[in-house]
Formats: sequence, structure tokens, C-alpha cells
Amino acid sequence: MLTTRPIGSIAGRGSSGRYSILRLFREGLNGQRGWSHAWRKATPRPRYKVVIVGGGGHGLATAFYLAAEYGIGDVAVLERGPLGLGNVGRNTTLIRSNYFRPENVRFYDHSLRLWEQLERTLNFNAMVSQRGTLNLFHTEAQRDLFTRRANGMRLQSVDAEALDRGAVRSLLPLIDLDNGRYPVLGGFLQPRGGTVRHDAVAWGYARAASAAGADIVEHCEVTGIRQVAGRVTGVETTQGVIGADIVCLAVAGHSSRLAAMAGLRLPIETHVLQAFVTESVKPLLDVVVTYGAGHFYISQSDKGGLVFGGAIDGYNSYGQRGTLTMAEEVAAAGVTMMPGLARLRIVRQWGGVMDMTMDGSPIVSRTPVAGLIINGGWCYGGFKAIPAGGMTTAHLIAHGTPHPLAAHLDLDRFADGRTCDERGLGPFPYAH
Ligand SMILES: Cc1cc2nc3c(=O)[nH]c(=O)nc-3n(C[C@H](O)[C@H](O)[C@H](O)COP(=O)(O)OP(=O)(O)OC[C@H]3O[C@@H](n4cnc5c(N)ncnc54)[C@H](O)[C@@H]3O)c2cc1C
Repeated sequence: MLTTRPIGSIAGRGSSGRYSILRLFREGLNGQRGWSHAWRKATPRPRYKVVIVGGGGHGLATAFYLAAEYGIGDVAVLERGPLGLGNVGRNTTLIRSNYFRPENVRFYDHSLRLWEQLERTLNFNAMVSQRGTLNLFHTEAQRDLFTRRANGMRLQSVDAEALDRGAVRSLLPLIDLDNGRYPVLGGFLQPRGGTVRHDAVAWGYARAASAAGADIVEHCEVTGIRQVAGRVTGVETTQGVIGADIVCLAVAGHSSRLAAMAGLRLPIETHVLQAFVTESVKPLLDVVVTYGAGHFYISQSDKGGLVFGGAIDGYNSYGQRGTLTMAEEVAAAGVTMMPGLARLRIVRQWGGVMDMTMDGSPIVSRTPVAGLIINGGWCYGGFKAIPAGGMTTAHLIAHGTPHPLAAHLDLDRFADGRTCDERGLGPFPYAH
């Protein structure tokens, strides 16, 4: 399962060639004249076997694994704007597999394993950095909950380590363990968690999928889904009608809108999530930390900025911006945990639209419309899921049956009452 063919072995027409130190050196001597576009700028053909709507991480990864794992290259990825401007390029770049539900631990850990070899597979530097993810806890009840989660992970051979206050302090010299509001009692570390440069993920998968034969069509918005007798036949787009045997929706925060074009109502709400970046400072944080007394996570980018975020703003919106109220709440959590952060200036802030499901777990599933597949409902966690999400969606398209790792992510679970409630919070998307 983990032996996806490296892109070098499936590169086809219009390929940008293999990247290597030797090539970099040669191009340096050659005036950099030998490089070509990382992916072909395709114009759509009238028909494909598979049309994927959405050129984000999941759409592009699905196209890549369709070719690399299942030999299906007759694929178009239709993206309404330029690649990488959706959530794939808006997230806080965190990857981990420290989930609670066993089936989610298996799914996200498979993803983490794919991340671990992604750069070799794609022949692209995605800056995968396994610097560790540390979850802090602040009450005895929270310690119990985290211990249970960590034990569940260990039972699945996934790494998790309990840290006492001293160990937390040595990992995080800036932390205020005894802050007046929520003193830190300890933490759980997943050493294999970390960060990946998010837009490089879009570019790397796009390049690899294009080299494998897929058409990546930018500035092509899907405006309708065609079907005959309950079976999908293609899509209407701003570049004309495109026929397809299978249409896969991978549009993240726009899942409900696109599904509605096929007459479907999904158990998904769209909410805004914000992210923030400070001015660059010298290295001071070499682990990802989450604050357990609120929803706050922070890491330091390779450029030196501190990248952080919190919870969704809590109202439905397709606007890629957020409210000051949530910005204040996030900043307050950060300063409580590490008071020194108060000295830093925030230089960038943005929002992304999140496809929040009613059980906090994603959807990789067939739908009641034959030939229409959905990859969505990623909530806060869809970046880390990109390799596994793409691979299991490709499996579903190629075989017509769910990949064993994603069998629990079917759409029918909501109707049947088999929800995979990751946080045990019930059907409230803002709670996940
Ligand atoms: C601020 C923020 C922080 C986050 N932090 C993390 C994190 O640290 N770790 C983590 O795992 N996850 C995180 N996430 C979540 C993660 O980014 C998303 O769940 C994931 O990227 C969604 O999948 P995607 O990459 O395919 O989505 P997207 O990149 O949004 O791709 C969907 C694409 O569909 C396109 N599209 C929409 N409608 C149409 C149409 N009609 N026709 C054609 N194209 C269309 C959009 O333009 C978009 O490019 C975060 C998200 C945000 C916003």
C-alpha cells in the first residue's frame, strides 16, 4: 500500500523532468534555460473518464493516485481559479495522526506514512518537517482523556508519549506553566507529527499528476452537473460542457453548493476558520504546540514567523475572512500560554471556508447519483489527510468500492446512525 510508484517512473508528455541537485547545478551553468512549467496548462477535451472538480490538495492528490496506483490517466482536474488558493494554501500546515477513534487513527496515520515518503514519491521538496506535535493538558479530567487517546494510538502502533511538566518546559522554554488562568499539568507528544509547506503540496501533486497524463485546467468553474436517468454524464463549466463517466467533487468548503447542483443535500455546513502569522523572529519554537484550555495551535515557519490559529468563527459563510472577536480569542489563548508572544506583531491574517460535517469526520463516498463521488467534509483536518484522502478516493473511483481505510467515511452513515463522532460532541458542526 505504501509503495506508490515514484513520479519518475510514470512521467509522460509535457513532463517538467526530474528535479535533482545535478540538474540544479547544470541549469546554473546553462543560464537556467532548461526549466519548463511544473504542470501543463491544459485546455479541456470534450470528454474524460474521470473529471475531478476542485484543484485543491484532495483533487490533485486523487488525480495523481489514479494514475500512479490505478493506471487511470484519462483525468481532468477542473479548478475555478489558479491552483493553491483554496484551503490547501490557507491552512496552518500541521500534520499528525493523534486522533481518538481507532478508524480515524488508522486513516490519518496512513496519511502520515504517505507524507513521510511524499517528497521522494513526487520528486518535489514539500518541506516535510516531523518536529513533533505536543498537546498540553490543564486538568486531571483532560489528562485522563489524553491518556486514553494516547493509549488508543499506541494500541495501533502509532507513536504517543506522555510528558510531565519538566519535559514540557524543556521543549518549550517560553511557556508559562503556572499561568493564572489554566496552569499546564503536562502534555502528550506525537514525535512524528509536524508541518509541511502547504502550497508546495498543491504544486507537487499538480506537477506529478500532470506528468502522469492528467489535464489540470485552471480558471474553469463548474456551474452545473449533468445526469441522465440518475447517472452522471458530465459537467457544465465556464469553458463549456465536459463529458465524464465519473465526476468527483473535491471542493472542500464548497461541497454543499456543488452537491446541490446534482440535487443532493449534504450533512455539511460551511464555516470560516482564520490563521495568523507574526513577523519573523529567530528560532524559538521547534515543536507544534496545541493549548488544551481553548483551541489554539502554533508552530514556527522556516522563515521565522509564528503561524497560529484557533477555532472556527462559528457562523456560516463563504467569505474568506474572519471576525475580530475570534482574532482576540485566539490571541488571548496564545498569550496565556506564552506571554512573550504579546511582544510580536501580526503581519498576516486570512480565512478559509471549512466543510464541517455533523460528526467531525470526513466523507469519501459514493452518492445516490451513480458515478458521482464526493471527497469532502474535512473540517479542520483536511490538510494532513491529503495523501490518504487522495489515495482512498482514487481507490473508490477505480474499483467502485471503498478503500478499507475509508470504509467508515461513507455518506450513508448519517442516515443509518453509524456516525464516527471524533470528539463525542454530537451533531453540531461548530463543536468539531
Ligand atoms: C485557516 C485554516 C487552517 C487550517 N489548518 C489546518 C492544519 O493545520 N492541518 C490540517 O490538516 N488542516 C488544516 N486546515 C484544513 C485544510 O486546509 C482543509 O481541510 C483542506 O485543505 C481541504 O481540502 P483541499 O485542499 O482539497 O481544499 P481546497 O484547497 O479548498 O480545494 C478545493 C478547491 O475547489 C475549488 N472549487 C470550488 N468550487 C469550484 C467550482 N464550482 N468549480 C471548480 N473548482 C471549484 C476551489 O477554488 C478550491 O481550490 C485548515 C484550514 C484553514 C482555512
